[in-house]
Amino acid sequence: MNKNVFRNLSYGVYVISTADEERPTGCIANSAMQITSSPATIAVSINHDNYTNSCIEKSGKFALSILSEQSDPGIIGQFGFQSGKDVDKFASIRHTMKEGIATVDDSCGYIVCKVIDKMETSTHTVFLGEVIDGDIRESAPAMTYAYYHNVVKGKSPKNAPTYLPDEDETTSAKWTCSICGYIYDGDIPFEELPDDYICPVCRQPKDKFVQK
Ligand code: FE
Repeated sequence: MNKNVFRNLSYGVYVISTADEERPTGCIANSAMQITSSPATIAVSINHDNYTNSCIEKSGKFALSILSEQSDPGIIGQFGFQSGKDVDKFASIRHTMKEGIATVDDSCGYIVCKVIDKMETSTHTVFLGEVIDGDIRESAPAMTYAYYHNVVKGKSPKNAPTYLPDEDETTSAKWTCSICGYIYDGDIPFEELPDDYICPVCRQPKDKFVQK
C-alpha cells in the first residue's frame, strides 16, 4: 500500500472546541465532514489522547471553527501543539460563545453540534453531531489542509488521523521549529533573523528552532 495516496484526499483545517467543567478547550482537526443535510449532521475524528476527546464525551457538545486562508496560523499552534489539560487555550484567542461552546472569531464560520452518536476506532473516536447552530464569519476562502502544508508550511500533529511519520524525512539540514515542525525557508539566512523572530505557526521564540 502506498500511504502517500492519502495526501490526495481533501480536507479543511478546523478548531474543534468544547468545554471541561471550568473552561473552554479544543484542538485542531482536519478530519471533519458533513454527513447528512436534514437534519444536518457532522462527523469529526478526535484522537483518544486529546483532552478534547474526553471533554466532548462529558459535555455532549462540540463546535467547529472553520479556519480561513486569512486566519492567524498561530491559532493552529495554540490549539494543535499543546494540551488543554495544561494550557487555557482560549485565553489569548478572540472567541464568541455559541450554545455554551467557545468558537474562534478569526475563522470563516462556525458550526455547533450536539453529540448524537459515536464510533470508536483503535486510536480515534468519531463523534457524530447534529447541528444546532452555525454561521459565516470572514469571507476569505476556507483553509484547505493542502494550503496549510504548502503555503503556511505547517506539519501534522502526531495525533492527527492523517499524520504520516515519513513527513520528517524531508526536513534534513533545515531550521525546524521543535514545537510544531514548521520549516523555515525564508530568503534571509536563519542565523541572521532578529532575536525576536517567532515561529509563524506556533509563536514560539527563535531558540526553539533546531537544525535537522
Ligand atoms: Fe512552531
